[in-house]
Amino acid sequence: MKNLKIAIQKSGRLNEKSVQLLKNCGLDFENYKSSLITSVANFPLEILFLRDDDIPGYVEQGIADLGIVGENVIDESEAQVSYVKRLGFGKCTLKLAVPKDSKIEDLKDLNGKAIATSYPVILKNFLDEYQITADIRLISGSVEISPGLGLSDAICDIVSTGGTLKSNGLKPFADVRRSEAILIGRKGLEDNLILTELVQRIESVLLAKETKYVVLNVEKKNLPAITSLLHGVKSPTVVPLAEEGWVAVHTVISEDDFWEKINTLKSAGAQGIVVMPIEKIIL
Ligand code: ATP
Ligand code: ZN
Repeated sequence: MKNLKIAIQKSGRLNEKSVQLLKNCGLDFENYKSSLITSVANFPLEILFLRDDDIPGYVEQGIADLGIVGENVIDESEAQVSYVKRLGFGKCTLKLAVPKDSKIEDLKDLNGKAIATSYPVILKNFLDEYQITADIRLISGSVEISPGLGLSDAICDIVSTGGTLKSNGLKPFADVRRSEAILIGRKGLEDNLILTELVQRIESVLLAKETKYVVLNVEKKNLPAITSLLHGVKSPTVVPLAEEGWVAVHTVISEDDFWEKINTLKSAGAQGIVVMPIEKIIL
């Protein structure tokens, strides 16, 4: 079978996590920053290192079969590609922001105003949806300084913590689009066996990241209360301790409501709770 090519960001916010995800899938490759392409020794895949903006187009044209890129970049490119899997990293939000003392309070107040952004397509679609006509000014970098320079009344930019906005005297005002890194594929690749195998591996890595392996000790009389709180992958493992009347319970719990669950287990009689990371879960 012909090798597939996957395009990932060469350097930047998504590079390290994309490389790590592929390595966690058991793929053995050299991460040479200087090369454009590298082969995976133990899987029929080649990895292309590109600027993130080029990835959707390369996948659309079939130069790469797959890509890992932010949803914001895919939407902005308007490339026709398939969404294969959300990857849970590179989370950010494209937001509208205005100067702290601005009179713009409502989306409607943006009518006739100038908005600076590097995302004109996404912004235009958003404004159209709310029937707002504004002057979209394309700026490729440092969008956040444009109101201070008198170049715009508002900005539309990627925000993760909000620190950059604050230090430029801006306040967030409305969310335009949430985004995270996503695995995309070229159209028509959906049933490819290499892709199916890769997606399966990615799913087991993501699932493992969301869960923790937990071992706890409990007096036998409290065991029913504990097991009713846990289901593990199938059901918890219970093994006797050397001390009469005590058992150890092994299970997995999700990261979601982690502390809440741990506290409930403690109140139900769990002691000596040990929590460990999981590498993979194969269902
Ligand atoms: P390239 O050189 O590949 O064009 P870039 O400078 O355009 O890189 P990065 O800043 O590395 O892009 O961001 C890549 C992606 O990371 C963004 O498109 C977005 O999906 C995501 N991201 C997550 N958090 C942030 C953030 N705080 N600011 C910008 N992008 C973020
Ligand atoms: Zn870019």
